[in-house]
Amino acid sequence: MTLKERLIRLIETGGPIPVSTYMQLALHDRQDGYYATRPGLGRDFITAPETSQVFGELLGLWAVHEWQAMGSPDAFCLVEIGPGRGVLMQDALRMAFVAGGKPFADAMQLVLVEASPALRDVQVERLAIYEPQFAEQASEVPDLPTIILANEYLDCLPARQFRRDGEEWHECVVGLDTDGALAFGLAADGRAAPEGAAKSAACVEVQTGLDILVAELATRAAKGAPVHALFVDYGPVDAAPGDSLRAFKDGVQVSPLHAPGETDLTVDVDFGRLKRLAESAGLDVTGPVPQGMFLLGLGAQARLNQLVKANEDDGDVIFSAAQRLIDPKDMGERFKAICISSKGLPKPAGF
Ligand code: SAH
Repeated sequence: MTLKERLIRLIETGGPIPVSTYMQLALHDRQDGYYATRPGLGRDFITAPETSQVFGELLGLWAVHEWQAMGSPDAFCLVEIGPGRGVLMQDALRMAFVAGGKPFADAMQLVLVEASPALRDVQVERLAIYEPQFAEQASEVPDLPTIILANEYLDCLPARQFRRDGEEWHECVVGLDTDGALAFGLAADGRAAPEGAAKSAACVEVQTGLDILVAELATRAAKGAPVHALFVDYGPVDAAPGDSLRAFKDGVQVSPLHAPGETDLTVDVDFGRLKRLAESAGLDVTGPVPQGMFLLGLGAQARLNQLVKANEDDGDVIFSAAQRLIDPKDMGERFKAICISSKGLPKPAGF
């Protein structure tokens, strides 16, 4: 039975499921989920580290800077959540081991938080020389000074969707249409407006995973060791996302219900809510700032000039790939960087 057939069976017997449950199963079902079985980085979608090595390299420099700002502790965890094919971390560590030298290399314990067994295999292979440990969740990372990196992880966290119908709000669900095919619908029970919904909003998404993540960071910070967590992703700052759930297959946008488990599902990240949650949990928040500004602030231009000079034959290709990350008309403005930190650390680089 395909995942789609199993979902139809599930809904026939148990009734419609929230959009967030659909997203969770489509992405992570052990037997047929997209990330669990056929993650399509480079095939269905392409990310910043897969576009240009400059991205990971600058994040590596960032990690060295923040480790030094913590007082260069002689043991710390460098964590990546959702490392994909390990390209970001490979570029980051190549650069970080040059910039931070032996003290950084000796102090670092690399921890990868990855849900996908298929991607873990790729990460083990690419990052073997750094002897990574794996964790299922950020809460399992050892209690040491911690620097967390995560690119395009937050947008995978399942979103609940709510829609306004007159004065009432209803949760969006996935049910079956009269032909027995998967179809979007609304839960019968009305409810109050979800937190953060603008007066004029007709649809609002809420990623409950953000609450869990912030609680984990707050718990870690409360134990006393310094923490910096850098997230880069796409989404609005000043209002909750509306209906942003979308699916990609072979680089083309398709219906999110078309082929569960065979397409990447993603939503916009509510950066405003993430910031509010972190601040009310007693954490420091820097940003969000546009990705382009962040990378330029970390020295993207100088690194790019260096690379182009060293590779004259491919100079144009290298330049235009890195330019995509910075150009406001491409990824530079739509993607944002935010840093969530334990209280009292110096302001992180690049903001
Ligand atoms: N950071 C990489 C990959 C982004 S794709 C890059 O920029 O290229 C999203 C990544 O997050 C994948 O590695 C995916 O398996 C992982 N992921 C998604 N949901 C997760 C979860 N709940 N816990 C841990 N990892 C998750």
